[in-house]
Amino acid sequence: MEIQCEGCRTITLARKEPVYDGFKKVGEAYVCTGCGARYASAEEAPFVHSPRRPRVFTEADKSQAPSIFADDERQHSCGWCRHFVVNPFSQRCGLTNTETQATDLCVRFEKREA
Ligand SMILES: [Zn+2]
Repeated sequence: MEIQCEGCRTITLARKEPVYDGFKKVGEAYVCTGCGARYASAEEAPFVHSPRRPRVFTEADKSQAPSIFADDERQHSCGWCRHFVVNPFSQRCGLTNTETQATDLCVRFEKREA
């Protein structure tokens, strides 16, 4: 965790330390790894929320997306779509209001929640 330390006035890393009251953990303190300044809680610690930080998880999600998509693709038919409306007279797409078959493939497919 990066903090803008008020003790040494630099951006540095903070170490998390459990705070005990007797043997009971009552919270977490943050200690500057540079100068040892101690912040009694997460609220008091001057965390740096940098928007420049690389978005690691987003990139990872993107690279995984194609394989997930491929696995799901065979289910991209109207029968699996949340817009698919079935009534006693017809099956139709709730988006375009046109008749459709459960096996039709559609670019507007959105997976129905189970
Ligand atoms: Zn410091």
